Amino acid sequence: MSLLFVENLAVSYGNIKAVRGVSLKVDEGERVCLIGANGAGKTTLLKAIVGMLPPAKGSVHFAGQSITHKPSFQIVRLGLAMVPEGRGIFSRLTVAENLAMGAYARRDDAAVRQETDAMYQRFERLGERRNQPAGQLSGGEQQMLAIGRALLSRPRLLLLDEPSMGLAPMMVEKIFDTLRDIAARGVSIFLVEQNARLALESCDRGYIMASGNITGAGTAATLIDDPAVQEAYFGA
Ligand code: ATP
Repeated sequence: MSLLFVENLAVSYGNIKAVRGVSLKVDEGERVCLIGANGAGKTTLLKAIVGMLPPAKGSVHFAGQSITHKPSFQIVRLGLAMVPEGRGIFSRLTVAENLAMGAYARRDDAAVRQETDAMYQRFERLGERRNQPAGQLSGGEQQMLAIGRALLSRPRLLLLDEPSMGLAPMMVEKIFDTLRDIAARGVSIFLVEQNARLALESCDRGYIMASGNITGAGTAATLIDDPAVQEAYFGA
């Protein structure tokens, strides 16, 4: 059984059909990416999966139950966490307060403290700046914070919307190293990325989205070797 199962999902903004009947799945332990040009509908699809936008039709199942019309806070409790485009950091709150938001639904305070400390060790800069407003962090540090916050909800599946956007190459590398670590600990990953090569190199499988539809799918290795994919998505 798949961990995430999306079937024939459609989402519209008024009469703009942004997502037009998309089906995809993520199995337990898998790393899957979704690549596609600007405006293909990737962000809209993610938002519909996590209950931030209502689908016009279709269904979303997670861990064996329908989450199609569930509110986001319930979806998070089931183990599906999202790192949104633009990170969604609360810039006036401190780093520590932002992390605490990720754990708001948990009652196991001691474990939360322990995991927060582990987070500070992993991301030293966050530890050093735990009492500073998150808005003072660099873009890359804010991305780390957004990932750390999502992890504190103890997700089974982490959805990420363009984590490399606007970051220096060194920072991008660090983010993707972190994603590899997270996956190695058993968290499944569904990654939306415009940096198609990097995304495929870090994932097991990929989907290609264009104009609201899935237009291609396969193992990462197959897609990386596909000349049509290379020409359309790998740039120069
Ligand atoms: P990007 O990488 O630029 O974020 P994307 O693949 O994530 O692109 P979406 O942001 O999902 O694409 O947009 C899909 C389509 O829906 C686009 O045509 C976009 O203009 C439209 N759209 C997105 N958000 C809205 C909105 N709030 N209201 C109306 N149309 C929207």
